[in-house]
Amino acid sequence: MSQKHVYSFGGKTADGNGKQKELLGGKGANLAEMCLIGIPVPPGFTITTEVCAAYYEAGKKIPEAAVPEIDAAVTKMEAVFGGKKFGDPADPLLVSVRSGAALSMPGMMNTILNLGLTDTSVEGLAKKTGNPRFAYDSFRRLIDMFGSTAMGCEHEDFEHEIHKLKEEKKVKLDTDLSADDLKELVKRYKAVYKKHVGEDFPNDPRKQLMLSINAVFNSWHGHKAVEYRRIERITGLKGTAVNVQAMVFGNMGESSGTGVAFTRDPNTGENVFYGDYLINAQGEDVVAGIRTPEPIAKLEEQMPKVYAQLVEIRQTLEKHFKDMQDIEFTVQDGVLYMLQTRNGKRTGTAAVKIAVDMVKEKLIDEATAVKRVNPDSLNHLLQPQLDPKSKIKPVAQGIAASPGGASGKIVLSAEAAVEHAAKHPGDPIMLVRKETSPEDVAGMHLARGILTSTGGKASHAAVVARGWGKPCVVGCEAVKIDEKAGVVVISGQTLKAGDFITINGTTGDVMIGKVETIAPSMTGDFSTLMTWADKSRKLKIRTNADSPADALKAREFGAEGIGLCRTEHMFFGEDRISAVREMILSTTEEGRKKALAKIEPYQKADFVGIFEAMDGFPVTIRLLDPPLHEFLPQKDNKAGAEAVAKQIGVTVEKIFERVEELHEMNPMMGFRGCRLPLVFPEIGDMQVRAIIEAAIEVKKKGKSVLPEIMIPLVGIVEELIILKKRAIAVAEEAMAKHGVKVEYQIGTMIELPRAALTADKIAEEAEFFSFGTNDLTQMTFGFSRDDIKGFMPTYLAHKILPVDPFQSIDVNGVGQLIEIGIQKGRKSRTEHHKQHLKVGICGEHGGDPDSVHFCHKVGMDYVSCSPFRVPIARLAAAQAALAK
Ligand code: PEP
Ligand code: MG
Repeated sequence: MSQKHVYSFGGKTADGNGKQKELLGGKGANLAEMCLIGIPVPPGFTITTEVCAAYYEAGKKIPEAAVPEIDAAVTKMEAVFGGKKFGDPADPLLVSVRSGAALSMPGMMNTILNLGLTDTSVEGLAKKTGNPRFAYDSFRRLIDMFGSTAMGCEHEDFEHEIHKLKEEKKVKLDTDLSADDLKELVKRYKAVYKKHVGEDFPNDPRKQLMLSINAVFNSWHGHKAVEYRRIERITGLKGTAVNVQAMVFGNMGESSGTGVAFTRDPNTGENVFYGDYLINAQGEDVVAGIRTPEPIAKLEEQMPKVYAQLVEIRQTLEKHFKDMQDIEFTVQDGVLYMLQTRNGKRTGTAAVKIAVDMVKEKLIDEATAVKRVNPDSLNHLLQPQLDPKSKIKPVAQGIAASPGGASGKIVLSAEAAVEHAAKHPGDPIMLVRKETSPEDVAGMHLARGILTSTGGKASHAAVVARGWGKPCVVGCEAVKIDEKAGVVVISGQTLKAGDFITINGTTGDVMIGKVETIAPSMTGDFSTLMTWADKSRKLKIRTNADSPADALKAREFGAEGIGLCRTEHMFFGEDRISAVREMILSTTEEGRKKALAKIEPYQKADFVGIFEAMDGFPVTIRLLDPPLHEFLPQKDNKAGAEAVAKQIGVTVEKIFERVEELHEMNPMMGFRGCRLPLVFPEIGDMQVRAIIEAAIEVKKKGKSVLPEIMIPLVGIVEELIILKKRAIAVAEEAMAKHGVKVEYQIGTMIELPRAALTADKIAEEAEFFSFGTNDLTQMTFGFSRDDIKGFMPTYLAHKILPVDPFQSIDVNGVGQLIEIGIQKGRKSRTEHHKQHLKVGICGEHGGDPDSVHFCHKVGMDYVSCSPFRVPIARLAAAQAALAK
């Protein structure tokens, strides 16, 4: 740990700077940086993230060496802020205390404001400002925030008191309470505090400050913060910094106010000043979404001078940070102060537009633009949009907070969302609430979209939804929620929990019922950014596709071939499944051949369609992989068996007999993959013939074809030797028959640890390797890929694993097998055949940005992923190439 624990900022100087995010947290580093570039910031200081780590190491105790530095920094802050003293009884300087980690974690800890107010200094403040109402309002807010944030009181208990008082006084708004009322409220709040904490509210400013610093550090391991880091996969941070800053007041009357804004529109990326403000309010009122604020443009009418200054700061900040900023400001008696700036969270759509625009504006270069967009955020541009032809009309309109359309069943709380998702996984849900708070993130994550009746563009719901690319509408006042009764009334219509509702986060529209969605396409800025990405990447991007339609979609998104065509999906087609079942049920080779002959023309037609769609790009077709029982009705499905019996003219008993024969204790490790054609060679023959004949047909039409025949689940080279020999014989026969030659390759999947370990032997036979990391992960960990539900959440919660290895490659284990496989395979192929061994990946990991980085690092030739992840993989591959 460094010697220095506390970094002061204020005036035009600062101990730290914007680069020290790890040490000072994002907020602290940027406050320092703003001071250095001459932007007005109330003075204060940052206690470092290292102190947070030391606090935990010492068993939740602030290290002693930091204490005198904190006291000195307070003195310095007093001096810079015109000599007012912290908590001075006659004219107190008040401070705010906020958390701030290296990465922004919105709402991790509620801010504590007005620290330094005591029974005596509140009188001083009242006299000094001539505004006792303001003084007592500030005091009661402090007791509430300090109590609920630092001392574990319930915020609701304080809220209850203010409601009661308003009822007694027969007033509606908080602002209708008089100074004397607020004085009374302070008394009641203190009673709540004492009841909960067991002692009086501390009348000592320094004690308040130290307890608040502890509270910020404690919040680092609070439930909300832990949950947020889990969802966002944030690991490796030291802790949070604490920012203590002189208070300025937005609630001192009509010439004061507070706001939050983005230097560009975080939904669309448009280069407009975007945000909200409230006159006569404190910052939390805007963020919490309690009062619905005014759009920033209106500030020009209300405070023209402040607005002009803000517009100038907007430009200065963008020029300096070269990125869109999310800012917070307060105006006290007509004087503007900036309280925060940080790179703004944005939707994928906005990220792309801002990156492309900033290149055009010469703020950044193309490579920076490519590096800046989070690949996963492209999901937002790849989200379905509401069908514009839908006849369902909007019944209400709120604020468009995060674009895209979504329909889902109403749930009225985050807990209900979690419960519903557990009972009905995948069922679409829409979270409908008055407002959201950090406690709700787990439920928000599960919802297709979020609708709130209050709040503005910077409310918690809006910020979080935008970060995740989820459609969101906020501030929709026509939505009246009665959580207890489980109903929502929208413009006079009553809906129950479970009824469908639709939102359009691009327009703010709310519709009752379910609206169909349409597939997105890739144009404009999106396609420009992709072209820039393509200039840098080394990996080729292929797709996993089993139909011409998917292949075409993937090509539209820039796929450069098919890395995995799973032929079994074709077997399920209505027109062929009965022939497949006939094949499985027949006990003789003859019988099987007869059935296969019925399937062959369909298979060939499938392949023709795919080859044509891929128009000369390589197409890897995998021979049948799953165990055969998957094509038959389940053991207990009598009706299904009867239908099949009727369809193919055998008895139900015969079907159940075969089902019984094929039953396996552990089918993923059973009679599947290359084991099928080794026992039933006619299945492989049919598939190879269909592939080669399709290629011949397409070639005859003058198109180029590059079929790659892929044999699954090989673990022993002898398996491959036999199957390859047979495949070549079938292919040669087909080509001789048609008098046409086509180029083709025969390769294998590497999806068993033994295959990776004996890759040198296998590469003597295989012309390419494709890592099937779904199975490789399953077989390496011994985790059945379909049965992780029971324990994976625990593994993740206890950090036994950092991420689900089926989603992101387990670099330390599975990754080693991949590296061994590539290294041994390439070396052997070069030695034996003087050929480069082509290597790719076709497990789900091919579309996961972190895994794509890994694939780049280990020198794969391509990754293959589902069509909608192709742009994500293109961008991730470029970022991997651009990373140092
Ligand atoms: C794999 O195992 O990674 C793979 C792509 O094959 P499948 O998912 O079809 O088993
Ligand atoms: Mg597999």
